[in-house]
Amino acid sequence: MDITTKCIHGAENKTHNTGAISVPIYQSATFAHPGVGQSTGYDYSRLQNPTREHLEKLVANLEQGIDAIAFSTGMAAITTLMELFTNGDHIIASGDLYGGTVRLFQHICVKNGLTFDYLDTGNLKDIKSKIRKETKAIYVETPTNPMMQVTDIAAVSKLAKEHGLIVIVDNTFLTPYYQLPLTLGADIVLHSGTKYLSGHNDTLAGFLVTNREDLSEKLRFLYKTTGACLSPFDSWLLIRGIKTLAVRMDRQQENAIKIATWLTTQEKVKKVFYIGLPTHKDYELSKTQATGFGSMISIEVDTKETAVKVLERIQLILFAESLGGVETLITYPMLQTHADVPIEERLERGINDCLLRLSVGIENVDDLISDLSGALN
Ligand SMILES: *Cc1c(COP(=O)(O)O)cnc(C)c1O
Repeated sequence: MDITTKCIHGAENKTHNTGAISVPIYQSATFAHPGVGQSTGYDYSRLQNPTREHLEKLVANLEQGIDAIAFSTGMAAITTLMELFTNGDHIIASGDLYGGTVRLFQHICVKNGLTFDYLDTGNLKDIKSKIRKETKAIYVETPTNPMMQVTDIAAVSKLAKEHGLIVIVDNTFLTPYYQLPLTLGADIVLHSGTKYLSGHNDTLAGFLVTNREDLSEKLRFLYKTTGACLSPFDSWLLIRGIKTLAVRMDRQQENAIKIATWLTTQEKVKKVFYIGLPTHKDYELSKTQATGFGSMISIEVDTKETAVKVLERIQLILFAESLGGVETLITYPMLQTHADVPIEERLERGINDCLLRLSVGIENVDDLISDLSGALN
């Protein structure tokens, strides 16, 4: 079955016999037992809930995993994931990570005794040089946020297998519609479901997906123990959002390619970071491991004044954090998503006061370009 169809029919709606097309919201905290030592399969909603279970089966199917676990936020998913590791463990991570992930690693995981090396995971030699006996995992975002660097997932996974390391891929930007890390050798895929999967800027969610029985068992234990589960209503919003994932992603990408191309012709725009531009250094690699480029674009404008002017003048496009929804949003990574990353590190990564990040939505592309044009000029 093609993934476009899976988005709509990817999990059996077995929870009712009424013919309802929409999966019911089981707004129940607990479930009655038919007898002593018996269970309907549902005991308590932190462990299982029928609405959430439908969503989890759907997401597992989309990512081609054996299990998907739905969390209240992306950060809750990553926090739970980090409980797989213990005092002394070492993790190699992409140098250009989501700001909240860096904050979690540096302020909470480090306190718990984990150590990290951050590097360009596109560079296998660098990864190799950092592997030591305490190393347990390689944590990859691809493409990265906000600099749009791409990592060869199959190559990293091969290297990781040779050293017995777990490969974790944050697939938030491309989603299973364009990229399937588990099929390329990764062990765990994670998502901020807040972004493209939900798609409407109306709910927070997170996912961990795996194709390994042992990891599924460990993660389920951590999930029921730590408890950051997705509510039945938010699970339903995700199910509804995912129905249109394919059409949204197609339209968002179509708009993004046109906008990125137009941006390259603008005098005040010095650099355009979009993996769908043939001039992007990882354009060819992207084509080998993903079926699309997504709709995240970062630009470096000529001056800080221009950046501020754009943010103040845009009318249709909204100046807001987050990404992946139907509304086009623009962010100022330096002040928003990456404000907690130390300044030297931020500048080294190219996150300066001229950098803006666009999440392209599904509006009419000419309206979007005209808004940007008015703001830039
Ligand atoms: C937003 C985001 C997260 C965190 O997810 P929340 O749902 O906001 O908690 C993690 N990774 C990436 C790439 C993100 O964009």
